[in-house]
Amino acid sequence: MDDNKQDSGRDGYEHVCMMCHRPESVCGKLFHMPPGLDICEDCLQKSFDLMNATSNKDETVDPSKPIGNLRIIFPGQGGNRQTLKPKKKETEEEGKKQEDVMDIAKLPSPHEIKAKLDEYVIGQDYAKKVISVAVYNHYKRVKRQDEEAFKDDVIIEKSNMLMIGPTGCGKTYLVQTLARLLNVPLAITDATSLTEAGYIGDDVESVLSKLLANSDNDVERAEHGIVFIDEIDKIAKKKNTTSRDVSGESVQQGLLKLLEGADVEVPVGASSKNGMVPTTTVNTRNILFICGGAFPGLDEIVKNRLTKSFTMGFNSHLKDSFDDDPDILAKTTMEDLREYGMIPEFVGRLPVVFALRGLDKETMKRILTEPKNAIIKQYQKLFAMDEVKLIFADDAIDLIAEKALKRETGARALRSILEEYMLDIMYEIPKDSYIGAVTITADYLNGTGAPVIEMRS
Ligand code: ADP
Repeated sequence: MDDNKQDSGRDGYEHVCMMCHRPESVCGKLFHMPPGLDICEDCLQKSFDLMNATSNKDETVDPSKPIGNLRIIFPGQGGNRQTLKPKKKETEEEGKKQEDVMDIAKLPSPHEIKAKLDEYVIGQDYAKKVISVAVYNHYKRVKRQDEEAFKDDVIIEKSNMLMIGPTGCGKTYLVQTLARLLNVPLAITDATSLTEAGYIGDDVESVLSKLLANSDNDVERAEHGIVFIDEIDKIAKKKNTTSRDVSGESVQQGLLKLLEGADVEVPVGASSKNGMVPTTTVNTRNILFICGGAFPGLDEIVKNRLTKSFTMGFNSHLKDSFDDDPDILAKTTMEDLREYGMIPEFVGRLPVVFALRGLDKETMKRILTEPKNAIIKQYQKLFAMDEVKLIFADDAIDLIAEKALKRETGARALRSILEEYMLDIMYEIPKDSYIGAVTITADYLNGTGAPVIEMRS
């Protein structure tokens, strides 16, 4: 600071620019600004240019960043890097995000995990309960293993899972939400893309490559992650085939060692190993594997088994008594899965088996409106940015749910239906800045009326 005073010419010395430190005789006339700051024309111009550029990019100006070879030094800073606090708004948003994430090191208990899942995943209570307990046990086991004292203790087996449920009922979404809440890396793979090593398709190790990539190539983080293998029913053993089953039984065989826990050579950044691709070793002992599938036809196998066992004795059931049971898949046993074409060793490595229910109309309606990031809330947010209130009448919600049910693709249909109807609204509304509110009605969705528009007062 004393130097600054001297440089600024207050003790009979020549004035110098506070930024480039050139004396007035070199850089030309200086601008004198309170409180005793001198700056040359070049530096002043460069400062304005920098501020314009950064404000256009919506960035915060970092005064310690050099402008070319210059750096803005404020009096009292002595040239030290100034650490700017983030804007208050950003800190609050960050806080909200952080609030959502649970600390896996503190092992959130099953009811805490389920409560968080409830905020996003509607219905599927049993599945959420099972998954919360399984995840809790899994990470408890991981924690215990990491502690030296328990190294030779009872070995707790992995709680890999198998989820059975129709398409669009939330299998993938459940796992995605879980991984996000626990802040662990997740890899999602389609079992249909996997084949036996050496054949066209991805090797089973590719699932770990994905996990590694999603962990920013941090092997330790990947080793505590979650792998979700979807469409697992598609790798069921092919029946009556004489050729080698490279995309069915062989893939199940290939996955065994991954599910069990082994050191696996993983290609980095590729789906199959070859001489050109670098590899690294990933231990799968603590990776949680969750498999999911719709298993079409499995309900018949379960029904047949149940009717067979019940047709004997006094409590005999008629063959069609299970036809209307919506929870028939919840009665699945290992035996049924084996009959479906899953090999015993494979099913044996997925000890937690549970079913998700197909979605009914009421659940569809709730999915539209209730979750924290419900589709309707997302649209309302978009409209709110233009200061327009978006309202969905009850009959419109009813109709959207009904239409979605007809498509038989589960909740996935909700978004596509909404996209179709909202296109015109999203195109037209911003044209008129006097519009204050729009109500979507069933009449509008049926094509027999227009949305109800309210102007700003
Ligand atoms: P799948 O069972 O075929 O894996 P998804 O999990 O991919 O189905 O579901 C598709 C989309 O539907 C999800 O991205 C999610 O937005 C929505 N969804 C499905 N089920 C639910 C649910 N139970 N609660 C909330 N949203 C759901």
